[in-house]
Amino acid sequence: MSESSPGKKSISAIKGTKDILPREARAWQQAENIAKNVFELYGYREIRAPVFEATELFEKGTGQTSDIVIKEMYTFTDKGGRSVTLRPEYTPSVVRAIIEHRLYLQPGPLRFYYIGPMFRYDKPQKGRYRQFHQIDIEVFGESDPAIDAEIVEMADYLLQELRISDTETLVNSVGCRKCRPAYIKELRTAAQAVAASLCADCQRKVTTNPLRIFDCKIETCGELARRFPEITAYLCAECDDHFRNFRAYLDLYGIPYRIEPRLVRGIDYYTKTTFEITTVKLGAQNAVVGGGRYDDMMKDFGGPDICGIGFAAGMERLLSVARLEKKPESFVFIAHLGSEAKKVALGIARDLRRQAVECLLEFKERGLKAQLGRASKLQASWSLIIGEEEIKKGQFLLKNMKTGVQREVRLEDIPDLVRTESRQD
Ligand code: AMP
Repeated sequence: MSESSPGKKSISAIKGTKDILPREARAWQQAENIAKNVFELYGYREIRAPVFEATELFEKGTGQTSDIVIKEMYTFTDKGGRSVTLRPEYTPSVVRAIIEHRLYLQPGPLRFYYIGPMFRYDKPQKGRYRQFHQIDIEVFGESDPAIDAEIVEMADYLLQELRISDTETLVNSVGCRKCRPAYIKELRTAAQAVAASLCADCQRKVTTNPLRIFDCKIETCGELARRFPEITAYLCAECDDHFRNFRAYLDLYGIPYRIEPRLVRGIDYYTKTTFEITTVKLGAQNAVVGGGRYDDMMKDFGGPDICGIGFAAGMERLLSVARLEKKPESFVFIAHLGSEAKKVALGIARDLRRQAVECLLEFKERGLKAQLGRASKLQASWSLIIGEEEIKKGQFLLKNMKTGVQREVRLEDIPDLVRTESRQD
């Protein structure tokens, strides 16, 4: 470690990114484990795709008219002259991987989950970062609306396990390629009538894709959009049926929800179901989970005609409202007295670690008082004292640092003792 020299500017993390320091990382691990356990219970398996992909994957998948593709992608040309993009979302990567590895030949439906970083060049603010982390699930090959409800129920269970309360579930249907064009036409007409009062971005959207006006965060646009026709009135029989059955299954699960006809969720590929779970505990960026169905993506990517549905939850937002139980941390600090004892201590530390007992020792030879001082500064749960006398006797002093109680122990008794006392803490 070197001290910073005067006059030299230190390098800081890029705006919109943040370090996850060890204390925080513990909570991340805990939340990730909870999510993995929940997903595996529902039959999901992990899939990991690269952090960067060919730019066209997102242009084609996420969609040319989405804010993500228009404004937010980290795109660069690599040394081989290829345009690559740090993934802004995960679904297109999973679809690519399924087609590339012909995973669709496996018995369906396929259920996958993933946890990792995403990148979007958006304006950083509380709850919105340029590198953020999502936990993501996807199901392929299941068209029954029962799966739409099952993933909402699974998201709900995840939030319960993370002890996130005061949530609201919003649902909508954005129709399909059959019924949406007629709605878009009506929507465009309505938007054109008020175009002069819309922001410049939304004025452009009137022509490119008026559905995206609903994503605008500007209050005046939102106000106008509330008076636009609602998609739910334009659904074809198939989409209407799907939406009704989806809600009936949510009722069956006892999950309360609110229909939000303007919930189009920023991405071009959604068909039929979209949903979002928000919490009042977050400020403006109040969505913790968002998802929907994308029945055409696999086919559009040149794969088989297999439907898909999924959701993503932002780790940063989940963690800011999760109430995780503090897991007690416990480790043994090994104090050694004299050069012979140091050698024995090194071996003991190795043996204890092999028996899943966390331990720490410092290599510098110091007096007992100094070593015990270090142990309490590091918040060790126990100190194990190893001196020449103890080595001869084969009995060592184990001190509980919280109670101060010391007792003589044999090495083989330590793992059980430490584990039993940790449980009682
Ligand atoms: P999306 O991929 O836009 O559907 O977002 C799904 C979830 O990811 C949201 O509900 C948020 O929890 C989280 N999320 C999206 N964008 C960001 C961001 N820029 N910073 C932090 N979390 C985000």
